[in-house]
Amino acid sequence: MSAMKRKIVIIGGGIAGLCAAIRLSELGETPILIEGGTYPAHKVCGEFLSPECMHLLHAWHIHPTPISQAILRTSKQCLSFTFPSIAGGMSHMQLDPALAKHAAISGAKIYTSTQVKALHPKQHAKEMHQINLSNGETLEASHVIIATGRIPSYSLQAPATAYMGFKTHFRQIPSTGALEMFSFPGAYLGIAPVENGIYNVACLAHIKSVNQWSHPTAFIENLITQNPHLHASLAQGKNLFDQWMVASVPEFGIKRTPDWLDTFFIGDAAVTIPPACGNGLTMAILGGRLAAEYALVRTAEDFKAMWTKRCTSQMFWGKLLHRLMLNPTYSGPLYRLAHYLPSLSQKVFNLTRQPV
Ligand SMILES: Cc1cc2nc3c(=O)[nH]c(=O)nc-3n(C[C@H](O)[C@H](O)[C@H](O)COP(=O)(O)OP(=O)(O)OC[C@H]3O[C@@H](n4cnc5c(N)ncnc54)[C@H](O)[C@@H]3O)c2cc1C
Repeated sequence: MSAMKRKIVIIGGGIAGLCAAIRLSELGETPILIEGGTYPAHKVCGEFLSPECMHLLHAWHIHPTPISQAILRTSKQCLSFTFPSIAGGMSHMQLDPALAKHAAISGAKIYTSTQVKALHPKQHAKEMHQINLSNGETLEASHVIIATGRIPSYSLQAPATAYMGFKTHFRQIPSTGALEMFSFPGAYLGIAPVENGIYNVACLAHIKSVNQWSHPTAFIENLITQNPHLHASLAQGKNLFDQWMVASVPEFGIKRTPDWLDTFFIGDAAVTIPPACGNGLTMAILGGRLAAEYALVRTAEDFKAMWTKRCTSQMFWGKLLHRLMLNPTYSGPLYRLAHYLPSLSQKVFNLTRQPV
């Protein structure tokens, strides 16, 4: 940039926003990140980190609990799959503050407990975006990176709820240290080791399945009883939360985001991949990193075209896997087939991710 000084503001300090802040700082910028909440905080998420992001986290001195295998189960079938390289588990309570600390040490300025109330995008390249904050301040930015998650709080109309997400933490579950995934009609549930002997238990359920019950808790408690292996495991463990966390989840896919000048959408604000693929966090990390690099040398239009292209085929296969997981009538026979054809699981795994 020549005449106007570059000033980059990141809205949203989840994994995507924090990774953009780290990368910008590594590249010599001093980004400002605005987060509505505080660190640490729980979030509805399976907290499984797919293999593709592990080297980046290690480079930032963040070391998730290693996970080398996934075990996929229906009530009748079971399939083991070894990841091509080590994956990991780490709770948002640990991961987000670790990234925030790294971003701050690298030079990013982080505001917490501060909501962006309004964004007035610039109309011409030489103008500045105006960003109104809940503390009464107005920030000016040459570039904005929007990382506000799957339900952007600046949008007037929240997207329709297609699914409900559930999460809790357990202790003392008998476990091999693998990621375990359970398939049910209209729902799937995962168990992943995070840290200190804690296990994340998270579930995604079709809203229609949940609505058949008087309360989301009644739904999840009944769901667990439908798989004897799962029921027995959790019965031996101790639920660390008083209540399951529950969150509304809109339909998955590539979002239709506005084409504002020098405005980059990343993480779930740009693309939401179904949790069946276990790589929403990796996409947040990689998208954050790439948007930071594009913001310095390319246009937001270039970034959007590149990211959409990279995600399109991944999303097609991701949605297919998601539908299979929601339907044990199909996933069961597929697991049986994959027993005899081990390359099938590897192929499906590869199709649901993009090269790093
Ligand atoms: C049930 C479920 C299970 C999942 N399990 C996994 C899994 O095991 N592995 C995996 O890789 N992915 C998983 N995902 C997906 C993963 O959680 C998301 O892809 C990832 O968290 C997206 O990160 P993000 O930074 O884009 O958004 P978020 O983590 O949602 O962060 C957005 C941030 O923006 C802030 N914000 C929003 N609006 C404003 C505003 N106006 N002003 C200031 N701040 C604002 C919010 O406070 C929030 O901290 C799961 C998702 C669901 C629903």
